[in-house]
Amino acid sequence: MVRWKNHLSVTPVQRGAGVARLRRPATVGAWLVAVVEFYRWAALEGLVPKALVARLSEEQFVRPGPRGGERGRMRSVPVKELRVRTVEVPRAPAWLSEEADRRALLALPLRQRDRFLVELLYFAGLRVGEALSLFREDLHLLADNRPHGCVIRGPHVHVVRNRPANGARAKSLRVVPVPAELAFSYQEALRERIDRVGDDRGQNVFVALDGPTAGQALSYARVVDLFRRLSKLLGFKIRPHVLRHTRATIWLRGLEGVPVDLDVVRVLLGHRSIASTLIYTHASEESLRAAVANPAVQFPKFPGPGA
Ligand SMILES: [Zn+2]
Repeated sequence: MVRWKNHLSVTPVQRGAGVARLRRPATVGAWLVAVVEFYRWAALEGLVPKALVARLSEEQFVRPGPRGGERGRMRSVPVKELRVRTVEVPRAPAWLSEEADRRALLALPLRQRDRFLVELLYFAGLRVGEALSLFREDLHLLADNRPHGCVIRGPHVHVVRNRPANGARAKSLRVVPVPAELAFSYQEALRERIDRVGDDRGQNVFVALDGPTAGQALSYARVVDLFRRLSKLLGFKIRPHVLRHTRATIWLRGLEGVPVDLDVVRVLLGHRSIASTLIYTHASEESLRAAVANPAVQFPKFPGPGA
């Protein structure tokens, strides 16, 4: 029964087309209670030995109160080994944990505007609303940005409170450094824009390139469509926010170099509270699963004396 409980807890279940997820602890607990209750019934009917039930459940005193009544009462609960903690362990948000998936995303054949949007979300970890509300003057993608009137060296993006026509609004004020490659990507996107809508001099970085709204600020609905197409091309579901989660995890775990300090990541992501940043340090589903699948991870063997 304990092995079954562990199996239920660590085996992801596929529901519909979405990503396979672990059962909630409360669900696992409910299954175990049902089976224990079944054996209790079977013991009462004389179908299984009473000793079996004694190994599966025990009497527990419930103190006086709403659940225990005036004097408290005894009730039967599964034994400790079969109980499930129903307090949810906070888990890190879903991110692109496979390097192959991250590479595949960056290698997709996209129009230049979409490529630049994906790269900006992926490398700068912006919220999609922040990216959509960027003005051209917020992009300082040069090594020396004094021509823009900015003393910050190296390519970066200013996330500011603009109010463009699409209603998108940046939530916080911060500067996020970006890789130099983004400057090329942006140049390509600008070239494509001029080809499509002419040199419109519009302030928005992201504009619709066709249809009746061509040249106007790109809407969130169009980005949702884009990510639907990306999901189809990649073969797994991806939302814009997953790119932000991925960037946060890459920074904190140092997957592209040294780990970035938690408080720096907080500032880069524009979190007001460190608690929001801390969620990325929580155990991920994959690491929990790996720990159970490989007992050596959970119970390291220490060499004995003289070893
Ligand atoms: Zn600047």
